[in-house]
Amino acid sequence: RIFHNKHSSERLLLVIPSSEVTNILQLAHDHATAAHLGRRKTLSRLNSRFYWPHMRRNVADYVRACILCQQYKPTNQKPGGLMKPIIVSEPWHTVGIDITGPFTKTRRGNHFILVVVDYFTKWVELFPLQSTKAATIAQIFLDEVLCRFGFPVRVISDNGVQFLSNVFTQLCDLLGIHHQRTPLYHPQSNLSERINRTLKPILASFAHNDSKGWDLKLSQIAFALRTAPSESTDNSPAFLMFGRHPRQPLDLLLPSPPVSDDLPSSNELSAYRKRLLVDVMPAYRTARELLDISHQTQSRHYNVHRRSLEFNIGDLVWVTSLSGIAMGKWRGGKLQPRREGPYKIIKKLSSVTYELEHLISHKRLSPIHIERLTQYYSFTAINYLH
Ligand SMILES: [Zn+2]
Repeated sequence: RIFHNKHSSERLLLVIPSSEVTNILQLAHDHATAAHLGRRKTLSRLNSRFYWPHMRRNVADYVRACILCQQYKPTNQKPGGLMKPIIVSEPWHTVGIDITGPFTKTRRGNHFILVVVDYFTKWVELFPLQSTKAATIAQIFLDEVLCRFGFPVRVISDNGVQFLSNVFTQLCDLLGIHHQRTPLYHPQSNLSERINRTLKPILASFAHNDSKGWDLKLSQIAFALRTAPSESTDNSPAFLMFGRHPRQPLDLLLPSPPVSDDLPSSNELSAYRKRLLVDVMPAYRTARELLDISHQTQSRHYNVHRRSLEFNIGDLVWVTSLSGIAMGKWRGGKLQPRREGPYKIIKKLSSVTYELEHLISHKRLSPIHIERLTQYYSFTAINYLH
């Protein structure tokens, strides 16, 4: 059948039966003379010659579903995964745990540092490590952190889900707990990273005279970080933790108040408790407000370069190859496919981290951050003849 073109009544268009649509689309997009060009260019090749119902839709769907285009073409969409601000309004609710290093191996054999930090007070714990084995870390975390300050509601790590889940398995073993809950994970929390940034020049300056003795200074460095006021809370971590300012070496130079040998009376204790609440409550309020503001600013800044995206179990996706990805931008060789797949989402670890299985090889990947995922599209021509 021959139809008149709406735009130029001079041209006659060949009407394509739906059984031929896929063939025609292949010629107009996949053929070397069509060179996998985009939706608009593919359509313009067709609409001057052919007509079929839903042609525009079919072309868009077909080009979007082209396997080679999906694997090779860059996307102008922002990477997915919005930062949700971490809301923390009390001490020791959310704690970050990370490993930094390697540093020069000390005489005692330490070359890594375990960094634990409370997201509310910014209280820091630093432990020199001889090994980064999950069992070692779990033991230190339990003995030196959890048994001293209590068990946090949430533990976060920049080192990834795998690191945390290994530590938690060991921790559950140590505690004799069988039920294992997946820890919540938030990859964009840069708190430990910020501490590392502060830590490295300090360590370097101590290592200047004795590069193999930095581990002996670590507790003192932690003391310095805990007693210095933090910009983000307007108080020192130590004050927010204990409601008092730990005496520092400098304080020992000052004349001290008279010391009594008597134990404090219950009156003195209750007066101290009252004073503590009067001092600490406003400090918590200030810290809460300041943290709120800084979290909002951080996520706003981060989200400018992200879009809201979430996948569900069963969804098919492409995974951007690791060899070429750096900070969400493609840096790979020009002739390698930038995406692998398709993979099926088999587990949602969080809104931004997923476990995947390759559709054909059944190879599993986990955890994969959403910034490496793009939706997989497939094509079926709309059958307009029923
Ligand atoms: Zn293509």
